[in-house]
Amino acid sequence: MADAHVHDTGKLSLTVKIMIAMGLGIVVGVLFDVIDSEFIDTNIVAGFFGMIGTMFVNALKMLVVPLVFFSLITGVTGIGDIRVLGRVGGKSFALYMFTTACAIGMAIVLALLIGPGAGFDMEGINTSGVTGAEAPSVWATFAAIVPTNPIQAFASGEMLQVIFYTVILGVAVLMMGDTAKPFTEACGFMNELVMKVVGIVMVFAPYGVFALIAKTFAEQGIGLFIPVMAYVVTLVLALFLHLFGTLSLLLKLLSGLNPITFMQKMRPAQIFAFSTASSNATIPVTYRSVTERIGVDKGVASFCVPFGATINMDGTAIMQGVATVFLANVYGIDLGLTGYITVIGMAILASIGTAGVPGVGLVMLTMVLTQVGLPIEGVAIILGVDRLMDMIRTAVNITGDAVVTTIIAKSEGKVDVGVFDDPEAGVIAEDVTDIPAHAQPAE
Ligand code: ASP
Repeated sequence: MADAHVHDTGKLSLTVKIMIAMGLGIVVGVLFDVIDSEFIDTNIVAGFFGMIGTMFVNALKMLVVPLVFFSLITGVTGIGDIRVLGRVGGKSFALYMFTTACAIGMAIVLALLIGPGAGFDMEGINTSGVTGAEAPSVWATFAAIVPTNPIQAFASGEMLQVIFYTVILGVAVLMMGDTAKPFTEACGFMNELVMKVVGIVMVFAPYGVFALIAKTFAEQGIGLFIPVMAYVVTLVLALFLHLFGTLSLLLKLLSGLNPITFMQKMRPAQIFAFSTASSNATIPVTYRSVTERIGVDKGVASFCVPFGATINMDGTAIMQGVATVFLANVYGIDLGLTGYITVIGMAILASIGTAGVPGVGLVMLTMVLTQVGLPIEGVAIILGVDRLMDMIRTAVNITGDAVVTTIIAKSEGKVDVGVFDDPEAGVIAEDVTDIPAHAQPAE
């Protein structure tokens, strides 16, 4: 087994603890759903689990902007050549779009083959309250990348604006040459410091993951899945096909790295994405996994990871493809080839401008549906199961980000294969109280 599960201290590794927490979360969640007690629902599920889960997600979000800023400044100045930066940017954009196109293309073909939704009975579905999203103009989306006020962009976590501003700042630092050295060093120090904070937050992951998952399963209810089973099965199948088929194949073909080792090293990040349903909140963990576990150079990762979390959503595109075919079948509408090509284009576009936050994929689905003339009320049919589907697709989204980041880094000769091959590389030192003796106050 490539992952070191038990360390010499005899303690379980953090990855194993997180996985146990996920399993326990599912069991406790389903149990609480079955028990159906008002007290448990209010105080334990919504109350206690809600509190722990929110604290954990907040702690992750708290890391995102400082991490992106300091790692990107360090990355840009570390790369040191504006042409290389431009090349990494161009290649990653093209590959992100390509993987999303593959994802949705495959999802539509698979859904057409399986044909979920035919003969679905709409009776009893409450479609009130479904509102549509406006299709964003491509031009407006690109224009909005430039912030008017960087402080506001940082405060509201507008990732594309944060990336844009930070890259420009990094380039300016490069242009200043030696004068800017203290600033570059300070940013390097801050980057390390923020990564230490990431390590501290990760130690609490088992509790956070448990609370988030138990709450979701307790609130979701298995009953919601039965009427839309065909949709769920097709979607999950498509997501897994993309994860273990397309992405693994691309990684192998374009970087030569072993997809099995890669997936093992991505497992904690995938679980974080699964429990938070947010690519954005998972940025610190994805970044940590690709740099410290997989061996990607920090310069490349500092740009590609947050960029991918914002513009690359393979799992979301897959959901939109399957949902469109499903709803077309439910309403007995034949979209034809043009319709499906429109869906592919719209879904790619939708993934660029929308942030990686929970549930946004479903909102953007209404936009896709409007474009091809399907009633947006159809969203109500799949609303009940969307949280769980969101969790799975977010895990696929961040894996796509990491695959592209690794491929780009490999093409630039910036993957440390020694780290990749070392099962112990980047394993979290769990004991946060283990502070170097010289740093401790004298007795
Ligand atoms: N939750 C997804 C993400 O953060 C987006 C979505 O599909 O709703 O990547």
